Amino acid sequence: MMRRLRNFSFFVLLCIASQGVAQDSEKEKIRLIELQAEVSKTTSIMHQLDSAIYLSDNQRYVEADERFLFVMRNLRSIPSDLTYYFGKNSYHLKKYRQSVDWLNKYIQLKGTTGQYSSEAVEWLKKAEAKLLEEKATESLKAREVLSRDYNIDCGPSGKVTCPICMGKTVIVKKGYFGESYKTCPYCSKHGYLSCDDYNKLVRGQLNPSADQ
Ligand SMILES: [Zn+2]
Repeated sequence: MMRRLRNFSFFVLLCIASQGVAQDSEKEKIRLIELQAEVSKTTSIMHQLDSAIYLSDNQRYVEADERFLFVMRNLRSIPSDLTYYFGKNSYHLKKYRQSVDWLNKYIQLKGTTGQYSSEAVEWLKKAEAKLLEEKATESLKAREVLSRDYNIDCGPSGKVTCPICMGKTVIVKKGYFGESYKTCPYCSKHGYLSCDDYNKLVRGQLNPSADQ
């Protein structure tokens, strides 16, 4: 239906342009050529849009996304229906923030009377719920308690077996020409770390010594 309407309007445009040429002016001819080029460019972009919608309807969301983006980059202004299709496709790609954004745009543009208004509202609800879920997990992650954020008491000895070399003071490396041995750069040949150094190591703050 959409495509038929578009083709009809191009036809009308061409008729108007042709009448101009009938007046036999060089300028009018150039205008017609430009217009035809514009129309054929727009036709091919609209074809991409139709194919994006088809792909999206057939669960090929990633391919659809590429085509939607192509259309959005190449059209001077984005058809309002595209905001609905792109918002819905974004939901399936789990891009919920993006989905909410574009579906809201459609609803802003069309209100409750658009062809896809009720679907847009449904998808928007789902996208908003997923977005909230995501935010909840993110804040849970932020509240995770990690041992590296605390200073660990290493006990009365005040030292810990070096976790890098397991107390062996050397690190064995397997290479193309057999094994090679390297002095452990963390425990300066002791095989253990002071409690202070151990806590630094866990936080990634203990620098390996250069002389080995
Ligand atoms: Zn060590």
